[in-house]
Amino acid sequence: MTESITNEQAFERARAVLPGGVNSPVRAFGSVGGAPRSFVSARGPYVTDVEGREYVDLVGSWGPAILGHAHPAVIAAVQDAAARGLGFGASTPGETELAELVIDRVGTRYLEKLRLVSTGTEATMTAIRLARGATGRDLLVKFAGHYHGHSDGLLAEGGSGLATLAIPGSAGVPAPIAAQTIVIGYNDLDAVRELFAERGHEIAAVIVEAAPANMGVVAPAPGFNRDLTEIAHNHGALVILDEVLTGFRVSPSGWLGLDGDYSPDLVTYGKVIGGGLPLAALGGRAAVMDLLAPLGPVYQAGTLSGNPVAVAAGLTTLKNADAAVYSHLDATAATLSSAVSAALSAEGVDHSIQRAGNLFSIAFRSTAPTNYAEVKQQDAFRYAPFFHSMLSAGVSLPPSVYEAWFVSAAHDAAALDRILDALPAAAAAAAS
Ligand code: PLP
Repeated sequence: MTESITNEQAFERARAVLPGGVNSPVRAFGSVGGAPRSFVSARGPYVTDVEGREYVDLVGSWGPAILGHAHPAVIAAVQDAAARGLGFGASTPGETELAELVIDRVGTRYLEKLRLVSTGTEATMTAIRLARGATGRDLLVKFAGHYHGHSDGLLAEGGSGLATLAIPGSAGVPAPIAAQTIVIGYNDLDAVRELFAERGHEIAAVIVEAAPANMGVVAPAPGFNRDLTEIAHNHGALVILDEVLTGFRVSPSGWLGLDGDYSPDLVTYGKVIGGGLPLAALGGRAAVMDLLAPLGPVYQAGTLSGNPVAVAAGLTTLKNADAAVYSHLDATAATLSSAVSAALSAEGVDHSIQRAGNLFSIAFRSTAPTNYAEVKQQDAFRYAPFFHSMLSAGVSLPPSVYEAWFVSAAHDAAALDRILDALPAAAAAAAS
């Protein structure tokens, strides 16, 4: 580094020109306080800030970094693609190869065709438009605490930054648009049945996080996704399974690989599928997907959709995410989550470790929350001291109790040891 700067100075400078000093709200450390770390590089399980300090990273770029940061094969593929041109605004063989690989991994029972977009927000937004186009209906059902990106109709009682900042929705969403989304409690099939009995004929789709991880992790009750799908289908509505966060992370074929005894109509992907670059997708059976332009009447487009550099990162990430990677992620999540629990128990801190596959988070309450209302009933104030104690010991956690922790294939024994060593002091800080 030629210039020496502190994290505080970097944040101060950013605040002058970026609203809140950030380009995505949760990065601002709003719920934990202090100046966010400003990072300059990352490798394997580590990130390094502007002061040259290295941290074990459990944010993983909010999900994509499943192989660890700057995986050599991914970097080589990106460099190679970039050297051949950053984009052509036209089709490339790589896009087809990525679609074939995803369809092959997830299975034609769920996916026959894929459309590549640039962000998870675009994927869910397009899936909803497609569901409306397919059914000729307007209403959308979502669950409180689920986050599906920041498009207008999806911000009511969203998780992630909305949960962190305790805002129920967003200003700037016209009332008639907000009125097209009905929000109900998660894991509550009676509420689903009741709603569909009353308004089923108006409902285009229900959108659901495959396993919610934006209000902290809250696994679906056994059979929830299956029964939800059955109810929706009985009323002619589609099911959009949002795998932006779980896709290719919790198993080689995402949450559907762990819990897939039902057939969602559309599935959305993001994060891992782009290997750290802006790439996301939606997919489903051909009969629905072919309603998209240019074949059908539902319009969607993107200047950067299927960008060749992003496709190279995604393809190489998926090709390198083999069975050994998933066993490592599962084992690492198991070790870490029990160590966190043991440390908190040793300090007498009420908590529940929330798991869904290799995703996990802490809820500071003695029983496991099953929905957003319960998630909010916890001693959330304990997270800030826990977080800062870990940070000062060189471990970077998500800066909100409502976010999942992300492990990677690069979290080796040395990285794990650093986390385990930091836990007792962090648990003591949470207790005080
Ligand atoms: N859906 C889920 C389940 C997510 O977790 C996210 C982002 O965190 C999104 C959609 C939105 O994705 P993006 O931030 O790429 O727009």
